[in-house]
Amino acid sequence: MSALSELYKEIALCEDCELARHRTKVVPGEGSEDADILFIGEAPGWHEDQQGRPFVGPAGHFLDELLHSIGLTRDDAYIANVIKCRPPTNRDPLPSEMIACRKWLDRQIELIRPKMIVTLGRYSLAQFFPGSSIGKVHGTARKKDGIIHFAMYHPAAALHQQSLRKTIQEDMLKIPLLLAQAEEVEEVKEEHKPEQLSMF
Ligand code: SF4
Repeated sequence: MSALSELYKEIALCEDCELARHRTKVVPGEGSEDADILFIGEAPGWHEDQQGRPFVGPAGHFLDELLHSIGLTRDDAYIANVIKCRPPTNRDPLPSEMIACRKWLDRQIELIRPKMIVTLGRYSLAQFFPGSSIGKVHGTARKKDGIIHFAMYHPAAALHQQSLRKTIQEDMLKIPLLLAQAEEVEEVKEEHKPEQLSMF
């Protein structure tokens, strides 16, 4: 059994925050274990909670479209969320829940070792760059700990706000070139954290 499969078993038993009481199934994540790109959303919704799989509702269908637009399928990438259990009534995750669940995401990153992390939405962005504004940094990349971090709006944003659909599609199209030029992206210095890189 792979290290990621072992990790799923641990996550399935986790009761480290209140959300354990509300879940139908945990949603650890899925995809290629040696994916170059790790997409990280916020938290499971109703569909995800029922199936135990990430991004299977309407926002997931849009994510599939976005992946296809750059020649990828789910099997080529890895898809996960910051929070592994659905918050009741799809409320925003609490800071304490984000902190409790972060260890699982860190383990996933360690095991997958992606070249690029694509944060989907402001909660995911805040995990890596607290204080950054998604409105300012979407479509831009920064390298941290040797991994390119690329910020995008959450696909669900396009469902609520049609005008963001094109923005999200355009941001997605930047990924292949960015990945190809990964070595050229400069590491973010702790003392100097620009809002965006010069590449895009
Ligand atoms: S949300 Fe995360 S920390 Fe909370 S019970 Fe689920 S797996 Fe554990």
